[in-house]
Amino acid sequence: MAEKIEFKTEVNKLLNIVINSLYSEKYIFLRELISNASDALDKLKYWTLANPDLKRSPAPYRIVITPDKDNGTLTISDNGIGMNRDDLINHIGTIAKSGTAEFLQNAKENASSIDLIGQFGVGFYSAFMVADKVEIVTRRADSDKAYKWVSDGVGGFEISETEKDCNGTDIKLFLKDDAKDFTDTIYLRNIIHTYSEHIDYPIILNLGEAGEETVNTAAALWTRNKAEITEKQYKDFYQHITKNFDEPWLTLHFKAEGSLEYTGLLFIPSKAPYDLFQPDRMTGIKLYVNKVFISDKVEGLMPMYLRFVKGVIDSADLPLNISREMLQQSALIAKIRQGVVSRLFKELKNKAKDEENYEKFWKAFGIAFKEGIYEDFTNREEVAELSRFYTTQSGDKLTSLDAYIERMGKEQKAIYYITGDDAKTLACNPQLEAFAEKGIEVLLLTDPIDEFWTQTLPVYKGHDLKHISQAELKLDTKRDMPKADEAKLKVLTDKMGEWFKGEAGKVEVTENLTKSPASLTVENGQMSIHLERLMRNHQQKTAFDSERILLINPYHPLVIKLSEMLADGGCEETVKDASMLVLEQAKIAEGEAVSNPSLFNEKLSDFILKACV
Ligand code: ADP
Ligand code: MG
Repeated sequence: MAEKIEFKTEVNKLLNIVINSLYSEKYIFLRELISNASDALDKLKYWTLANPDLKRSPAPYRIVITPDKDNGTLTISDNGIGMNRDDLINHIGTIAKSGTAEFLQNAKENASSIDLIGQFGVGFYSAFMVADKVEIVTRRADSDKAYKWVSDGVGGFEISETEKDCNGTDIKLFLKDDAKDFTDTIYLRNIIHTYSEHIDYPIILNLGEAGEETVNTAAALWTRNKAEITEKQYKDFYQHITKNFDEPWLTLHFKAEGSLEYTGLLFIPSKAPYDLFQPDRMTGIKLYVNKVFISDKVEGLMPMYLRFVKGVIDSADLPLNISREMLQQSALIAKIRQGVVSRLFKELKNKAKDEENYEKFWKAFGIAFKEGIYEDFTNREEVAELSRFYTTQSGDKLTSLDAYIERMGKEQKAIYYITGDDAKTLACNPQLEAFAEKGIEVLLLTDPIDEFWTQTLPVYKGHDLKHISQAELKLDTKRDMPKADEAKLKVLTDKMGEWFKGEAGKVEVTENLTKSPASLTVENGQMSIHLERLMRNHQQKTAFDSERILLINPYHPLVIKLSEMLADGGCEETVKDASMLVLEQAKIAEGEAVSNPSLFNEKLSDFILKACV
């Protein structure tokens, strides 16, 4: 008796998109189904290590593609791990993975995204691009029972018990009228060569009476000699394991020798993936032990900040039958990590000689990479050395810290930086005025992560790293221009202190502003205004902790005027309103929001009106 089960809403939505897509590159379904077959073989291979008494057939691992022109069907078979009833329901009938919602969103925004279907963990459903009915017959390697799953991709599927003489899965596609080409052997051979050449199991084309033909080379590329591998083979392999379509920005193939031997074939993509900031979803490096796939989620094999590095590490020196959990804590893994990271850094330093090309890497992955400055204590100086920044003098070019140091004047005491939301707002921060005046370069740091790594790297190659508000910089030349009277100014700043209680508890006179009347800062060592804003945005904090200091420019005509008006008496209200505008302007220059927009607008209009009459 067949049992009928409905698809979950998500699956229906997904199938709707897949079935109705006018996507022309329908052949990607084959890549997806072959990739699933290969995963199933990997799983079984791993499983048998731990459970020698599995009921698996002794036949060699393989994937067989059987086209049937007469009946218009195509069958993809594997003798891998297979599925039981629960697996069929949980893995094929429902989508448990979080990727689906994102896939749907992406498909809505970007019609060609079906290409990426495999990256979202919903590759199986691409079968419905070419088939109006799919039949799965499968038997799990630890069971005698076989099941049949049938669906036309609309509404639901049926499951029933059936017979199957060996473990594994046959997926039979009843091809749509416009997809009958997929029984053509020349076409099939072509697609397999293009997309599945690097599958580590033989992919066999079943030609019926004409026998069988192995299509791919089925050799783990990384085990081969570098000299024998072409650039195209590397690229194909990269695209195969990442399911990306770009060129690798970096290809690094190496053999580590010594007390611990391993081979690495690593890539850095040329584009950032959509999930760069969902680190828990990223799977970077596939770990193999002597060509047996172990896991692509071995924690600690790669530091988090290098999560964009893809590829394979294969070591014969790791114990094969160790559990995946144990592996994570293994000292050998830590040793491999340090070795791999050093190789990568060496290679990155090499690549950095071509600045223009290095910029491509930096723009795609720099934000993640910089996390290493605070995450990787041992290597932080090297991570910093490989990092790139915009500065007040670099224009649209990126610069390294080393190049910055080279440009520093003799009397410059530290590497200076300023943090904020974006370069435009930062550029108009009044605190930069003194630096501009003195010709001192300042790093413009606009990524949230910058607030954090700057705390963990107080010194770089012997030079202090300082936020500009901690610069203790003085514009030392006496300025030849009118200045507010000291006593009158004191009256004004005292008053401001009273008026702005809670918003700017201290009001101080500064020599460091040239263009602006005032600027906001915090006491040395306190959390910066920008960091507070970041935390507020992440609901980590509701009130300010750091006391704000309003710095007043005694040379500014507005400040001179206000101090005189107040001393002359009689117009305290006007001075108060004007001072409020000065404070709000200082906030805006910091990238902060005005605290009372309606009051601010009202007062501003008043002043504009006065100026116009
Ligand atoms: P993904 O491969 O990213 O997990 P798919 O949609 O391609 O997503 O496949 C969904 C799941 O269905 C797989 O994770 C696996 O559990 C199961 N599956 C698909 N094909 C096979 C197969 N040939 N053998 C065993 N399990 C399979
Ligand atoms: Mg898949």
